Amino acid sequence: MLEVKVAVGQVLDSLVYILSDGISNDYYLIDIGDFDAAQSILPKDANVRGVFITHGHHDHIFGLNELKITYPACVVYASEECAKMLASAKANLSYYVEMPVEYTGEVSVLHDGDCIELFDDVILKVIATPGHNPSCLSFLVNDYLFTGDSYIPGVKVVTNLPKGNRILAQQSVEIILSLAEGKTICPGHGEKH
Ligand SMILES: [Zn+2]
Repeated sequence: MLEVKVAVGQVLDSLVYILSDGISNDYYLIDIGDFDAAQSILPKDANVRGVFITHGHHDHIFGLNELKITYPACVVYASEECAKMLASAKANLSYYVEMPVEYTGEVSVLHDGDCIELFDDVILKVIATPGHNPSCLSFLVNDYLFTGDSYIPGVKVVTNLPKGNRILAQQSVEIILSLAEGKTICPGHGEKH
């Protein structure tokens, strides 16, 4: 069984989703903006096994170093493009908001179509959804679809940041909508839908 909780971060209200099986102490995260917000809803004895990053913008990653210090065994999953952004405060835009964050540790690189078993009968499927940024991935996990900034219901996809692409963003929205029926949409900001 899959349980999903959400923590709202201090910067741009970016969301951290916390996935568990409701039985073990194992947890996975989707994005890691505000680490303190995430930690506040994790039990003290949590074993955070991995974090899946939707894309490399600062508001979705700025808690990553704290996360790795607190949970050294946590695997960082991201696209290849995202891995480059993690390592550069200018590329991940944190430099420009005066809270520079860089992460140069190991990244387990994800590709479109990859499937990873999180828990018994809980599979995460990777869907490349570029456009908001080339690093963008969405994650389909059972009945939940985590879309980052590639699709926020009721909000136009932002494509005017560096490397944004309006045409790709629209194609990605169509891919997401084609998968969305019967699923709970979990965007990178706002609320679950
Ligand atoms: Zn973004």
